[in-house]
Amino acid sequence: MESQKKFTKKFSFEFFPPKTPEAVGKLQTTQEHLAKLKPDFFSVTFGAGGSTRERTFETVIDIHQKTGIDGVPHVSCIGSTTEEIKNVLNSYMEAGIHIVVALRGDLPSGAIGTGSLRYASELVEFIRKETGDYFHIEVAAYPEFHPQSSSAQKDLENFRRKVDAGADAAITQYFYNPDAYYRFMDSCEKLGIDIPIVPGVMPIVTCTQLCRFSEACGAEIPRWILKRLQDFGDDRKAIREFGIDVTTQLCDNLLSGGAPGIHFYTMNLFTPSETIWNNLNLGSIDRK
Ligand code: FAD
Repeated sequence: MESQKKFTKKFSFEFFPPKTPEAVGKLQTTQEHLAKLKPDFFSVTFGAGGSTRERTFETVIDIHQKTGIDGVPHVSCIGSTTEEIKNVLNSYMEAGIHIVVALRGDLPSGAIGTGSLRYASELVEFIRKETGDYFHIEVAAYPEFHPQSSSAQKDLENFRRKVDAGADAAITQYFYNPDAYYRFMDSCEKLGIDIPIVPGVMPIVTCTQLCRFSEACGAEIPRWILKRLQDFGDDRKAIREFGIDVTTQLCDNLLSGGAPGIHFYTMNLFTPSETIWNNLNLGSIDRK
């Protein structure tokens, strides 16, 4: 963990591109609220295979222009040709976007066609080949390991491939057990990985949603959290309060332990992330 302490702490919020005019309005309110916290960037997800290409682009540009805070697109390679990826990168360069999150992506189940680049490391390599050092490249990291990895060690080695290919920093999949992150960081240090690896944190809003996401992405919900959430039944207020308490403590633990910031998976809501931010007094944190 020691190697992470030298990095400036960075704070960011993740959104998904809204589909309906109502959802667009809701995201506008969310971005206005969260912009007041002066995060380092707002990132916007990308539907693998290009299903949200236009909406991701429009959302990133809107955020960038309206809030003055860096809008950061996620770019995934699965299901896209290199020509399509090149066009996406060019449009972001023309719009003055300097940071991207480079991912392999997941195709909706049943979809076929994997595209020209198989892994995120190949995408990072491609971005560097096409655009040199123009972009600051973020990649994904998995303290509890990627669900498709054949072993923990192989997954770590594959993570290193992305760093060797030119990634500048990483954001983790969410987790609720900080030891998974600390162990992961120790293994990264042993492999000579020396980039900031910012923990991704998912505020708990509903039990069903959390279980659905965790099932899909392989994030573990500790038994004690699940049991308590189940006890709350339909009491959404109690779930939110418990969720905020648990997530605030997790962030506090991670930041005191030397994590170089926090990336919030907001689900386009501002209240949970904003409350955690205020609980932690992050507005006054020394980011150096
Ligand atoms: P990779 O790093 O390519 O890894 C995928 C799997 O392949 C791993 O099991 C790895 O061990 C293995 N692997 C890698 N290289 C090799 C190799 N050379 N040989 C053999 N095996 C290898 N998904 C979206 O669709 N859109 C998004 O916007 C999005 N945003 C995300 C943001 C964050 C911060 C995170 C953590 C995830 C996000 N995801 C998103 C989910 C992500 O796309 C999935 O987890 C996906 O399954 C893997 O993407 P990756 O970039 O980590 O892939």
